[in-house]
Parts: sequence; structure tokens; C-alpha cells
Amino acid sequence: MTLTVSCPTCQQQVTWHEKSEFRPFCSKRCQLIDLGDWAEETHKISQPMQSHTPLSEDMIDALEDEFLLNNKFFVEPE
Ligand SMILES: [Zn+2]
Repeated sequence: MTLTVSCPTCQQQVTWHEKSEFRPFCSKRCQLIDLGDWAEETHKISQPMQSHTPLSEDMIDALEDEFLLNNKFFVEPE
């Protein structure tokens, strides 16, 4: 008698066997996908801001221009 389980990632039937080293996943790929999902969730929680792209001078200038355009109240003369 053989016990089979469903791969949590792709639902493929996986034989529960000593040689099935990635059980309950069918393969290392599915195991990594599952771990990746978990890591991504953790990443979202710990780093809500996307900080991997530093702002260039031009981008900062553009943001300042946009800010001033959207906040004329602050720059209009009396
Ligand atoms: Zn799988």
C-alpha cells in the first residue's frame, strides 16, 4: 500500500516515500515556489516601501514640480 499526498503547490499526486525528498511537494521547484510565496509575504510586511530604486536628481526635481503644481495654494503670492 502506498500513501500519496497532493503537492501543496501544483496539486500533483506525490508518493509519500523516503526517496521523495521534497514531500509533500512533488519537486524542488514546487518547494521553492512555496517558500518563495512565504518569503514574499514576509517581505511585504517588513518592507512596505519600495526602496531598492534610489531617486535620481531628475526624479526628485520632477516630484517637486508635481508637488508645486498640485499645491498652488502654497506658492501663490499674496
Ligand atoms: Zn508540485
